[in-house]
Amino acid sequence: MIIAVLKEPIPETRVSLLPESIPALIKAGHEIWVEKNAGALAFAPDEAYAAAGATLVERNAVADAHIALSIHPAFDTTRAGQVWIGQYQPLYNLAKVDQWARQGLTIFSLDMLPRTTRAQSMDILSSQANIAGYKAVLLAASMYCRYMPLFMTAAGSVAPAKLLVLGAGVAGLQAVATARRLGAVVEVFDTRPAVKEEVMSLGARFVEVEGAADASKAGGYAVEQSEEFKQRQSEAIAAAVKKSDIVITTAQLFGKQAPLLISTAMIESMRPGSVVIDLAAATGGNTSLTKNNETVSHRGVTIVGDSALAASMPSDASKLYGKNLLNFLALIVSKEGALHLNWDDDLVKGACITHDHQLVHERVKPVTA
Ligand code: NAD
Repeated sequence: MIIAVLKEPIPETRVSLLPESIPALIKAGHEIWVEKNAGALAFAPDEAYAAAGATLVERNAVADAHIALSIHPAFDTTRAGQVWIGQYQPLYNLAKVDQWARQGLTIFSLDMLPRTTRAQSMDILSSQANIAGYKAVLLAASMYCRYMPLFMTAAGSVAPAKLLVLGAGVAGLQAVATARRLGAVVEVFDTRPAVKEEVMSLGARFVEVEGAADASKAGGYAVEQSEEFKQRQSEAIAAAVKKSDIVITTAQLFGKQAPLLISTAMIESMRPGSVVIDLAAATGGNTSLTKNNETVSHRGVTIVGDSALAASMPSDASKLYGKNLLNFLALIVSKEGALHLNWDDDLVKGACITHDHQLVHERVKPVTA
């Protein structure tokens, strides 16, 4: 089969497949076409793709490929029956989903994969969130006006930074681990009590608020909370924010607006020089002052709204994204190299948004109806 790798739209720096992943596909009998300059911003030049055995093509050639790989949805050069694999966020792109079906595309959006053990090797949300959590702490440390670790020097002692993480999913836990390695004192909030042990094992304190709604049937994701819980949680968060120097927020609700957890008054209670990094900025943000893709300053506190931090580390982000794609491809391409869509497989079914001119995803269908 012909598998095409697209150049992503600006300002994306990542690419869906690096040259290092190409030999395995060629060995499996596929032909790999790579749009010219696809990897330029991920430090993978055209020559590296050519050396790995790929054919460099113009964008309009992509329509002749059987499978197209990308990160963002850019279905401008397509052909009915073609398979596309990427991170297309159908729940945030509802207006376009019908069009994808009309184009006759078989769309696999890997952000919709069920969060099961078998799906872990294809979980693009995890591989990219891990980078975002790590970079959030490095970014905060470089913007913060004081040391992160405890220092005892001849000129006097410096207390360690107090860092608060809201949301202990993949990004949050990596933020905790990174902040601990830098010597910060870390506190964590999450509505899922199940993460308490993981948080504690990383050397951070889990701040508990009793009475969270049961999320055990939500596929690992958080669920909407009662007004009473939100009130109690808000009081606890206010107390924690006030004594924090750095806050990393990652709280998301699958397919919905992110919960607003930090008010302007809470930010005003932080001491000047403090830093807030909001990784939920793209879905509305966790603070009332977050502006997506912007850094704002309010009474001496810097608030960074950035949900695309993985793109600030394009080499490893592309490497891991590409590995996720290879693992998913192994699920839909037979050993003989033909397309084999097994609709009884929960991962194939769970990631497929449109197929055969129909919107097929059970979770997307009701919201577009
Ligand atoms: P996410 O990005 O959806 O949310 C980040 C965190 O914010 C979550 O821990 C969530 O509980 C928390 N949150 C939501 N609302 C909150 C609120 N009001 N206050 C405080 N915290 C709040 O999470 P994610 O990183 O995508 O992980 C989601 C789930 O999927 C987790 O249970 C994770 O362990 C699981 N997971 C499973 C797999 C797999 O098995 N394939 C892979 C990755 C993650």
